[in-house]
Amino acid sequence: MARLILLGPPGAGKGTQAERLRAEFDLVHLATGDLLRAAVAEGTDLGREAKRYMDAGELVPDAVVVGMIRERLSGGGSGRFLLDGFPRSVPQADALDRTLSDLGMPLDAVISIAVSREELVRRLAGRWICRRCGRSFHEVFNPYPGTPCPSGDGTETCDLYQRDDDRPETVSHRLSVYEEQTAPLIDYYRSRGLLREVDGERTTDEVHDQIVTHIPAPPGS
Ligand code: ADP
Ligand code: ADP
Repeated sequence: MARLILLGPPGAGKGTQAERLRAEFDLVHLATGDLLRAAVAEGTDLGREAKRYMDAGELVPDAVVVGMIRERLSGGGSGRFLLDGFPRSVPQADALDRTLSDLGMPLDAVISIAVSREELVRRLAGRWICRRCGRSFHEVFNPYPGTPCPSGDGTETCDLYQRDDDRPETVSHRLSVYEEQTAPLIDYYRSRGLLREVDGERTTDEVHDQIVTHIPAPPGS
């Protein structure tokens, strides 16, 4: 079984790593940021409410994101998942704990990706995301190679955009929100013996290799 959380500040590389791990380990990738952006794009009531918080760089209320995750985890499936961007506060972590214990699906590991503030600012300022497949690129560190978008019909290229909340003013606030509300989860999971720390300032391949050492091997392998 693999039931994992990727924990780290905005720009740490969670989405980049999750995309690869999902494919290699056959995991369901649950990213609350992606789910919320999809709700915003669809213009649902939830999306309209969430947008105000996202534009301001604030966390969306716990009840909203906890409901989204609970619904997806309870919906059956393989029980092999990778949470990205959730939990982001102690109340969210407590709610996750209750949900997983009700489902009899304990976590295997929480992988904490550490990156300095200066590097996070550089990464977010140059981040470009594909509207269709959701992959992140960086204009300097990880340029889009121009290959066909995996979500298209094989002929279209990715449709890249920069997120509104990656503007420097919002980034600085998001990093402070991370320090105040999310960073306490490092000790929360350390005290439960689940924390695995990786150096996020290495290349994407090196970060990947560090993470893989912390993923339990499937039974029988
Ligand atoms: P990043 O990848 O840069 O860390 P995300 O895409 O995960 O950013 O999140 C973008 C925004 O969506 C956050 O700034 C916040 O407003 C909202 N959001 C995402 N996940 C959560 C969550 N677990 N709790 C509250 N708000 C969230
Ligand atoms: P998160 O989901 O944690 O917010 P992303 O995966 O979207 O982070 O990565 C943020 C930005 O940093 C993207 O532009 C991505 O291409 C780039 N990036 C990711 N990992 C690395 C790395 N190891 N070195 C340099 N740039 C990286």
